[in-house]
Amino acid sequence: MATVLEKTVTSPIFDGPYYLSIDGKLVQTSDTFPVINPATGQVFAHAPAASAEQLDSAVAAAKKAFKSWAALGYDRREIYLNAYADALQQHRDELAQLLTLEQGKPLKTMAEPEVDMSISWIRQIAARRIPVEIVEDNDSHRVELHHTPLGVIGAITPWNFPVLLALWKVAPALIAGNTMVIKPSPFTPLSTLRFGQIAQSVLPPGVLSIVSGGNELGPQMTAHPDIAKISFTGSTETGKHVIRSAAATVKRLTLEMGGNDAAIVMPDADWQAIIAQLFWGAIGNSGQWCVGIKRLYVHRSFHPAFAAAFVDYAKQQKMGNGLDHEVMVGPVQNKMQFDKVKTFLDDIKRNGYTVALGGEVDDNRSGYFIPVTVVDNPPESAMIVQQEQFGPIVPILVYDDIEDVIERANVSPFGLGGSVWGRDTQAAVAVANRLETGMVWVNEIHTQGIDVPFGGHKQSGLGTEHGHEGRLLFTNPKTVLIKK
Ligand code: NAD
Repeated sequence: MATVLEKTVTSPIFDGPYYLSIDGKLVQTSDTFPVINPATGQVFAHAPAASAEQLDSAVAAAKKAFKSWAALGYDRREIYLNAYADALQQHRDELAQLLTLEQGKPLKTMAEPEVDMSISWIRQIAARRIPVEIVEDNDSHRVELHHTPLGVIGAITPWNFPVLLALWKVAPALIAGNTMVIKPSPFTPLSTLRFGQIAQSVLPPGVLSIVSGGNELGPQMTAHPDIAKISFTGSTETGKHVIRSAAATVKRLTLEMGGNDAAIVMPDADWQAIIAQLFWGAIGNSGQWCVGIKRLYVHRSFHPAFAAAFVDYAKQQKMGNGLDHEVMVGPVQNKMQFDKVKTFLDDIKRNGYTVALGGEVDDNRSGYFIPVTVVDNPPESAMIVQQEQFGPIVPILVYDDIEDVIERANVSPFGLGGSVWGRDTQAAVAVANRLETGMVWVNEIHTQGIDVPFGGHKQSGLGTEHGHEGRLLFTNPKTVLIKK
């Protein structure tokens, strides 16, 4: 049986216990599941496993809260969201620490910036409005396009950026007048449960609920008749399940999914100057980055020197437990992904590709550590080129001809992001314009902003997040026709 507990959200360093957040209350479950610190491979906490009934309660509470939340209007919702950002700010250090403990990412260079960016985005998005558009206005007729909230949004999130990717959904959904139920990844439930607990002290009951549990909660959400939209971030394979399941109730969907992003370093690039950007673009967050560089194409004229410099830079980066401030590369987040990434290493070894760095996992080391691995010029058909590795391995691929490299970049069924690097910006932009992706950066990577649409082409996504386009997807376009 579920137990309803007091709200307690004030401890400076949070050490549990963790509760679901439903209808403004912290709710215990009869079952829990273990949460593993990927840096040690050891269980360090237990998370509540929501039952199907508890998910239903969260959706019912969100549905009940929707009317009054939507009726508040933008300005009053903005006050609430800013109060939420203030509350998160007070818990910033513990949230970042929790994120490192459950996800593995380095505290100073990854976890703290993730929490800071999330808080800043809530404030910025809270200030945005979606106004009524006048489509036609003449002597006889006026047509208005209103953007009304949808109702209850179900958010399903992955384990690579559990705080940021969830709050990216919370802020635009709530400011537009929707309520939300979030289901975090079973691998990284704690930071989400914690920011959910914090929300209950600030937001009206039912506006933001959190239910953690196994993967089976996902299909329950995607089939739920009272959820109007699913905002999903995760793998393309799971995204296809979401599409199928959501069909029965014609849910709105935004799907942010997998990628196999190419970076193209042009023949004229000042390649020595961009080694660090390319390295972190690929290996940041241990390569568990949807828009990470997963294929690095360099021109033959500087290839050997580039590969040597890239490897030299990689050797200077310390791998280890993210709580150690000198560590720049953490573990892979979970055992399943660790085993998956090892299959790429096995394939590289089996095929005798040239490994310029790494390649061997130390089986005596505890935790899910894959050494940074650089594969030098494997064939285009190699598994490491064709599939999304989502780990700290990067293939450096040689090209001679621009037309050829554009073709190779575009052949993927994915089309999330990409980047082009060169001294002649116009030439680089011309290549960028021909990449079949949802996003492409020129001479920079991973810059984002609340007004910058973020989404995938081909099998990398459906819909977009951020920007006016992304915010509109949390609304229903309602046309009002008025005869004068
Ligand atoms: P995943 O697809 O395994 O899981 C994502 C979420 O879906 C989890 O919360 C999971 O519990 C849930 N889920 C599992 N089965 C479900 C089902 N049948 N119905 C509904 N929900 C279900 O993904 P992951 O391994 O957590 O994340 C890694 C993947 O996410 C990578 O492919 C990565 O590229 C992608 N990703 C994409 C973006 C983006 O913005 N495009 C961002 C981050 C990660």
